[in-house]
Amino acid sequence: MDFGLSQEQQLLKTTVRDFAEQELAPHAREWDEKQEFPREVFTKLGELGLMGVCWPAQYGGSEMSTLDYALVMEELARVDAGVALSLAAHHSLCSGHIFLAGSEEQKLKYLVPLAKGEKVGCWGLTESSAGSDAGGTKTTAVKKGGEWVLNGSKTFITNGGIADVAVIMAVTDASKGKKGISAFVVERGTPGFRAGKKEDKLGVRSSDTSELVFEDCRIPGDNLLGQQGMGFVDTLRILDRGRIGIAAWSLGIAQACLEASLRYAKGREQFGHPIADFQAVQFKIAEIATQVEASRLLIWRAAFLRDSGQEHTVESSMAKLFAGEAAVQIALEALQIHGGYGYIKEYPVERYLRDSKLGTIGEGTSEVQKLVIARGLLGLKGMVR
Ligand SMILES: Cc1cc2nc3c(=O)[nH]c(=O)nc-3n(C[C@H](O)[C@H](O)[C@H](O)COP(=O)(O)OP(=O)(O)OC[C@H]3O[C@@H](n4cnc5c(N)ncnc54)[C@H](O)[C@@H]3O)c2cc1C
Repeated sequence: MDFGLSQEQQLLKTTVRDFAEQELAPHAREWDEKQEFPREVFTKLGELGLMGVCWPAQYGGSEMSTLDYALVMEELARVDAGVALSLAAHHSLCSGHIFLAGSEEQKLKYLVPLAKGEKVGCWGLTESSAGSDAGGTKTTAVKKGGEWVLNGSKTFITNGGIADVAVIMAVTDASKGKKGISAFVVERGTPGFRAGKKEDKLGVRSSDTSELVFEDCRIPGDNLLGQQGMGFVDTLRILDRGRIGIAAWSLGIAQACLEASLRYAKGREQFGHPIADFQAVQFKIAEIATQVEASRLLIWRAAFLRDSGQEHTVESSMAKLFAGEAAVQIALEALQIHGGYGYIKEYPVERYLRDSKLGTIGEGTSEVQKLVIARGLLGLKGMVR
């Protein structure tokens, strides 16, 4: 067993950390307050090869592993979790779906500009009445002539308001349940397709979250992504990698909390001592650090299983469940270590707390992760998001 990173991975980690410190840290508070998505950052991430971390070079990608992707996620989320979340939706969900199910032509047309950061992607599964129960999708795609006609709407879509390319799940055969859901690529500017309400959120405010609306939206027959009826099945495979990324995203926030707590505990004096001298504070730091390491090990193990071609659905969900819940607890404790200063905006821990909560909701709630884990262990059949 080797828990160390290779020289290349160390270099990747340092490069992304430097980028995040220089390009994200000075603006993170402002983007959070203004709820502003920094599009130019995506262009720069593209120049660094980080918009298509896992895809082959022939599709504009950097040919890196899932573990590499987890390192990128951790380092970006450590500084700006909103930017990192937008990258996760762009990379693992939208681009990931095109890479998994797209034809060669679709990969060249859509994946290449996405991987290079020339275009931004979003991925629409969730609807107002179909969240955890994504099989209850109501958006329809009906074949008319040589075209597909989409009607319906998608809710809470990361990058929804700014994306150039959307991958959308829609019902093509209502009689087949989850096996009647198909995926489609829809380009910004297609008549009948528009972004709806932009959500005003608790956290991850530098990430755009919007509704998508389809009103008799006609797209070419060729825009079916993968096989008809396989959209939901492919989704489950896409989420296997996605969840490792979101777990690493939670880890990045947790790591930021740990570093902030160490700094603050050494600098803040009360009763004539740095608060780091008090055992109650030391215990909090010990617990935070242990949770951070445990999260990292679960994430790296899930990534290792994926990278070595082994089954990893249960392990991905375990990593996401643990790291997502841990990050919220860690952010609460980090805020407590900061006392009143943790509650005000001059210090970033209140943002870490607000951001962290999404890790227990997005790409399947913690409860859904438990369903996935239990079903995997019990050998129960049936597709759970
Ligand atoms: C900021 C943000 C970004 C997002 N980005 C995207 C995106 O890019 N694309 C996309 O498609 N979606 C996206 N989502 C949607 C997200 O995936 C859903 O919010 C999530 O899957 C939960 O669905 P829901 O909100 O409808 O909650 P619900 O499914 O209504 O769940 C409500 C509560 O009930 C619990 N629950 C539901 N069913 C069960 C069950 N069977 N057993 C036990 N408990 C259950 C849940 O765990 C939760 O606690 C995003 C959401 C947010 C907030």
